[in-house]
Amino acid sequence: MRPICLLIRRPVVLFRHTVQRRSLLTLAIETSCDDTSVAVLEKRQNSSAILHYHSKVTSDNRSWEGVHPLLSHVSHQKNLGKLVNDAVSALPVVPSGNEQSGNCLPVADGSHAIFRQKPDFITVTRGPGMRASLITGIDTAKGLGIAWQIPVLGVNHMQAHALTPRLVSALETEASSSGTQPLQPEFPFLSLLVSGGHTMLVHSKSLFDHKILATTSDLALGVVIDKCAREILPTAILESASDVMYGRVLEAFAYPETSEYDYLPPLTRKEELTQKETSYGWAFRPPLSQAPEGFRGSEFSYSGIGSTVKRIMEDNPDMAVAERRAVARELMRVSFEHLASRVFLALENPDLKDVKSLVVSGGVASNQFLRYLLRSVLDARGYAEMKLMFPPPALCTDNAAMIAWTGMEMWEAGYRSNLEMMALKKWSIDPNGEDGGILGVDGWSKIA
Ligand code: AMP
Ligand code: ZN
Repeated sequence: MRPICLLIRRPVVLFRHTVQRRSLLTLAIETSCDDTSVAVLEKRQNSSAILHYHSKVTSDNRSWEGVHPLLSHVSHQKNLGKLVNDAVSALPVVPSGNEQSGNCLPVADGSHAIFRQKPDFITVTRGPGMRASLITGIDTAKGLGIAWQIPVLGVNHMQAHALTPRLVSALETEASSSGTQPLQPEFPFLSLLVSGGHTMLVHSKSLFDHKILATTSDLALGVVIDKCAREILPTAILESASDVMYGRVLEAFAYPETSEYDYLPPLTRKEELTQKETSYGWAFRPPLSQAPEGFRGSEFSYSGIGSTVKRIMEDNPDMAVAERRAVARELMRVSFEHLASRVFLALENPDLKDVKSLVVSGGVASNQFLRYLLRSVLDARGYAEMKLMFPPPALCTDNAAMIAWTGMEMWEAGYRSNLEMMALKKWSIDPNGEDGGILGVDGWSKIA
């Protein structure tokens, strides 16, 4: 019997080496804000990727009408263990005959164990975010890394949002089985990151070099939309919301049918800055329309829009549904045209002449009207060639798949984190930022 065993084993060992060389596996954890998310991602050498597991639990912050740090922290502590446990049960199964390798984990399956592939490394969000929340994820990641004797990579959450379309491209390559394809978009590209925490226009020149061209001088757009939604939405709709993503509820209220858009894009900057009075007698002033001469658009400002909505709603507390809907639509139009205005100002810069793609990500990017508006204004203002990329909504909001992908790109560039790595409440993605950007902080080691 012995020779037969050897004959069977040899090809299996070869197969194991082939698997190791051709793919990378990571288990990733995201806990920077109110979403606890875990993913298992495999990346092959041909730039395709498989998401073996992806799940998320969002802290129920409804009683606070917004994200509450303590509630979120408790939610991470409560839910992270179960998600990691489920993720471990979704690791790829080791081909039979290969179970003796050091790369296997025996994972309980009913009364016996199944041998699953040990990840090559753990990826975790290191920052920016709420410190206590980040620490829950980081400590769990370090524990897994030590127990399994594999490296841990602490990555930047905003870099992950910026790289998300490259993850989407890798997942699509895998799904289409069309062989090797360059990841899309290739650097350089522009990103609008619009979430509950950020409103940024970023020029991504490389994996580490994301120049921030514009950022909000007051509030993030997602926060303003959420606050306004609470003023505009009829009480019954507001009370039936299943979470605090009021922006999503507001969009559904404003545009029950996506075919209803009767939007005409402004053809010039002057037209964009013109205040448009509605039939109800109120109007929104476009933000920063009175900014000083020579102002080059490095700012977004959304607090004024929030005040306008508050004033309109206070002036008419018994407002009918049709007018509420009109307020919601104008709020979105003016807010999104303001996003677009910074893109146009940036594109006037010759440094951006090689940019061919505009990525829009973050929770607000799941808004269908935003997609429609941006395409319309780009076409109307001479940028019909500019490719617009919107990651699917599940990858636009905070998620561990984008963290896993960022881990893959950083790993392949040779970066590892050391075990002293700490949570970073603030962490710029711009090398010119005060902390030196992604690579400017301590805790990295580089493989030659
Ligand atoms: P994030 O911080 O990336 O998790 O995004 C959360 C933010 O996205 C919240 O402020 C949501 O209200 C907002 N958001 C989610 N979906 C939509 C939508 N369809 N329209 C506008 N805002 C949205
Ligand atoms: Zn985010």
